[in-house]
Amino acid sequence: NEILKAPRAYDTEVLWQKDKDHFIHPFTDFSVFHEQGCDLITGSEGIHVEDSHGNRFIDGIAGLWCVNVGHGRSEIAQAMAEQATRMAYFSTFNNLSNAPAAELAAKLAELAPAHLNHVFYSCGGSAANDATIRLVHYYFNRLGKPNKKRILSRRNAYHGTTYLAASLTGIESNNWDFDTLDHLVTHLSEANCYRRPEGMSESEYCDHLVKELEDTIERIGADNIAAFIAEPIMGAGGVLMAPKGYHKRMQAVCRAHDILYIADEVVTGFGRLGHFFASEAMFDTQPDIINVAKGLSSGYAPLGATLISDELYEVLGTPQRKGGVLSTGFTYSGHPVSCAAALKNIEIMQRESICDNVREVGPYLEERLKTLAHHATVGDVRGSHFMLCIENVADKTTKKLLPVEARVGDRIAFEAQQRGLIVRPVGHLNIVSPPLIWDRGVVDRVVETLDESLAATTATLKRDGYL
Ligand code: PMP
Repeated sequence: NEILKAPRAYDTEVLWQKDKDHFIHPFTDFSVFHEQGCDLITGSEGIHVEDSHGNRFIDGIAGLWCVNVGHGRSEIAQAMAEQATRMAYFSTFNNLSNAPAAELAAKLAELAPAHLNHVFYSCGGSAANDATIRLVHYYFNRLGKPNKKRILSRRNAYHGTTYLAASLTGIESNNWDFDTLDHLVTHLSEANCYRRPEGMSESEYCDHLVKELEDTIERIGADNIAAFIAEPIMGAGGVLMAPKGYHKRMQAVCRAHDILYIADEVVTGFGRLGHFFASEAMFDTQPDIINVAKGLSSGYAPLGATLISDELYEVLGTPQRKGGVLSTGFTYSGHPVSCAAALKNIEIMQRESICDNVREVGPYLEERLKTLAHHATVGDVRGSHFMLCIENVADKTTKKLLPVEARVGDRIAFEAQQRGLIVRPVGHLNIVSPPLIWDRGVVDRVVETLDESLAATTATLKRDGYL
């Protein structure tokens, strides 16, 4: 990669200081940031990223669950450059469109489950979820059901951080000292097989969660509930696996009560579970709406999309009683450069059969990660395909957690980084969500590195009196 070899156009120390003085980073611990600033990631290629000191790491998190086709794809850069040169931007409001946006909408309709044929574009996952809820409210308003407003979400769900998406999000610590739109959202229990109530079988647990949904609908009234939103596998909340049949049964209850079913496939979509869309292929559900972002463009450009069923579109897209304008959308809805990136990304995924690779290597990654269960802190290794997680505990029998101050996830991530691997710490968890191009050889190297990192972490936890 010639660009990686070229001299840098900046002084690293100066840049580090500018960042520290002026960039308010998302999800960054200020107590650490004020002292240490940030690591600058300055290069990336294939499965690797490089920092400003020239250290090279295997990327175990695909940037942030998004660089699905891997780094440094000059084909995507080229497609973006060509589009930016030809026509970088023009409005898609008021009966205007552009070639990549139209092509991509048709491509998404082709790849998605048969009944999802209409696409509303946004700039990322939060905005897609936010726009979706507005569209859902609008849909019921147009049907003469203006009381159907409440959205059922789940504790520990992650749906983003715009005001509405943050309100859908059920990870408590994400909203500390922030406000949420509580009149619009009710959180049900998370579906978490690992921490299900003591003595309950998986199928009893499923019954229990479905009953909670039914009871909630009875309490609030179906006339007041617009939709249920769920990630097929909860991502940032801890790669939480629902009991078998959960999504299908939840959808059936929703359907029986005229409650729309929204699948947030921002992480699970675009190959991470071995399919472009996981809802139908893996969970046997037919959502009314599916949201995607991240892997849609493999992170090469910001982009989100809401896929809407024919049935909903009939209501949203018919000329209105009061004029014909759907008065919502973003300046960058259907941005030509982002859509060009997504089209090339999909072309690569299909040409290189990337979903096949995930279906082939994913189970191997899961199986190999499970061999780490002998380490003192590893309570659970779970997930599916290229969406996996290690849950660390103090006691494997009681599943009791280590104290927060032990920062076990950070310790493991630090040890791994010292050994050339980036995995993501989230509290007591470590998430592995790699680019979808890992092969078995890479998996072996990664598991070996994690094996050493877990052993080193156990030693420091013992040294510090936590184990
Ligand atoms: N939904 C899910 C399931 C996500 O994991 C994320 C981001 N991690 C979002 C929505 C929000 O996406 P974005 O950060 O692009 O706004």
